[in-house]
Amino acid sequence: MSGYDAYGRPIQDDPVCMASPAHTVDPGAFPAQPAFPAQRVVYTVAVFGPDPSNTNCPNCQVQVTTAVQVKDSIAAYALGTFIALAGCFCGCCLIPCHMEVFKIYEHKCPRCNAYLGKYSRSPF
Ligand SMILES: [Zn+2]
Repeated sequence: MSGYDAYGRPIQDDPVCMASPAHTVDPGAFPAQPAFPAQRVVYTVAVFGPDPSNTNCPNCQVQVTTAVQVKDSIAAYALGTFIALAGCFCGCCLIPCHMEVFKIYEHKCPRCNAYLGKYSRSPF
């Protein structure tokens, strides 16, 4: 490129201005902001089975092995009542209370006794 400016000076291509366009953003000047605050607490939902399992207690914030209490579900009592009403008074009405499908395994924290979850094969 050649020519003269308003003061009669020759116009030259400026190599410094050509090398650094004005709208280039240095990626190091603006570090990426984290999407969440640093002290975010994440609780995982534990899937319990019939046996004691290791989990984090959300109440006392400690890794614990759960204490399991076995209970009979309401369906066991309902079925036992139905069997008794049907005429079986000789102990048959107690059979549902001994069936695995009607058991509920409640998992609690052994330290603070907080309820952590349950396992049951029965949908009731
Ligand atoms: Zn606890």
